[in-house]
Amino acid sequence: MSAPLPPALLATLQVRQPLLWLNPQLGSALPASAPTAQQVQAAAARLQRCAGLLAMLFPELAATQGQIESALHDASALYAQPPYHGVQGRCWLKGDHALPVAGSIKARGGFHEVLAHAETLALQHGVIQPEDDRRLLASPDARALFARHSVVVGSTGNLGLSIGIMAAALGFQAVVHMSVEAKEWKKARLRQRGVTVVEHAGDYAAAVAAGRATAEADPNSYFVDDEHSLPLLLGYAAAAAALAAQLAAQGVTVDAAHPLFVYLPCGVGGAPGGIAHGMKLLFGPHVHCFFAEPVASPCMLVQLASGGDAPLSVYDIGLDNRTEADGLAVGLASPLVAPLMRAELSGVFTVGDDDLFRQRLLVEDHCAMAVEPSAAAAVAGPHWLCNSPAGQAYLAAHGLQGQLADSHHLIWTTGGALVPAEEHQRFRQRGLLLQG
Ligand SMILES: *Cc1c(COP(=O)(O)O)cnc(C)c1O
Repeated sequence: MSAPLPPALLATLQVRQPLLWLNPQLGSALPASAPTAQQVQAAAARLQRCAGLLAMLFPELAATQGQIESALHDASALYAQPPYHGVQGRCWLKGDHALPVAGSIKARGGFHEVLAHAETLALQHGVIQPEDDRRLLASPDARALFARHSVVVGSTGNLGLSIGIMAAALGFQAVVHMSVEAKEWKKARLRQRGVTVVEHAGDYAAAVAAGRATAEADPNSYFVDDEHSLPLLLGYAAAAAALAAQLAAQGVTVDAAHPLFVYLPCGVGGAPGGIAHGMKLLFGPHVHCFFAEPVASPCMLVQLASGGDAPLSVYDIGLDNRTEADGLAVGLASPLVAPLMRAELSGVFTVGDDDLFRQRLLVEDHCAMAVEPSAAAAVAGPHWLCNSPAGQAYLAAHGLQGQLADSHHLIWTTGGALVPAEEHQRFRQRGLLLQG
């Protein structure tokens, strides 16, 4: 299949040379179906009213009264390192690698969707009333109801962990279809929790398709569809308001004189797309969102650069979607998210696997955080923006060069807290070898 991409861009992608691509359609009209601020607030309200339930189900949440939130960290020590000289503005790190229970950004969307489904079922069957305390979702009646229903998902690993853990904790039969990248320890952890893990030799899209097919055949089965799900997207988008409050608490203003640049690792696009959309709803043109993708799996870049809605995958341009960034190993972007990002995303930069391990090591050594390789994908974002010709072109086009010193850069670290210590040791060794 011939790809409708500009020849120079296509050539750079095909030789896997990292680049910063700027989205020419930034600022175009959003699709009519774009989630509204009210929908995002409703998702945040759902997570709030379920906090007491979560604190009951997961002892590790007792200290935070059931809040699933992460800290905002100062990252100036990281950006004082040699590869990043020339980065202007203040740098922050949003630590979703340490989100409780699921250990990744998938807690946001995944927990929201399972809780929404549990509420819907319990209301339908009269087990709770609309105004009831959601702790009733842990009652014997609710558990008996959920035990007759299954929740199914397809995943490269972290979404499966998030959905599997939450569904099993509520008493659902949980089934996770895992793609070829999925790490053994993620499967083992789910099995320990009583989740059924189905292993596939195929990629992410194949695992999702398998899950969808089994769920469609069973009326008591609910499929969490990572490629099309609005409840997932809304759960991610709800992160924006919490982040805005954290920034305000640090005295950070976001306006024309103080732009905010946000850098997010992207797989199918749901997590970073939901957060970017939530941020745009709050801060409009003053927030600039960039995605990071592996050079082998730049699915959002390819879809947006194609200029249209016809699906275009990384396989279509001759890439193999093979990367150590298991959380980002997706060949085709979400058709729900891509049209939103066409209007709202500033650009995409790509990263090679060796750089993932170098960046992971820098985060470990200068921020004292152990993140997984996928979660280090966005670390070079401020460097691309401040120090590359494409970044300079973006700043010039938006009249931002004079504001750079007063700007804020926020790097989203998206997973790592559940990774076994031996795996982190291996990641560290690989970074040290590359550092040479
Ligand atoms: C899933 C995941 C992402 C990206 O989320 P998508 O919704 O797939 O785009 C980023 N980092 C990690 C660690 C993930 O697990």
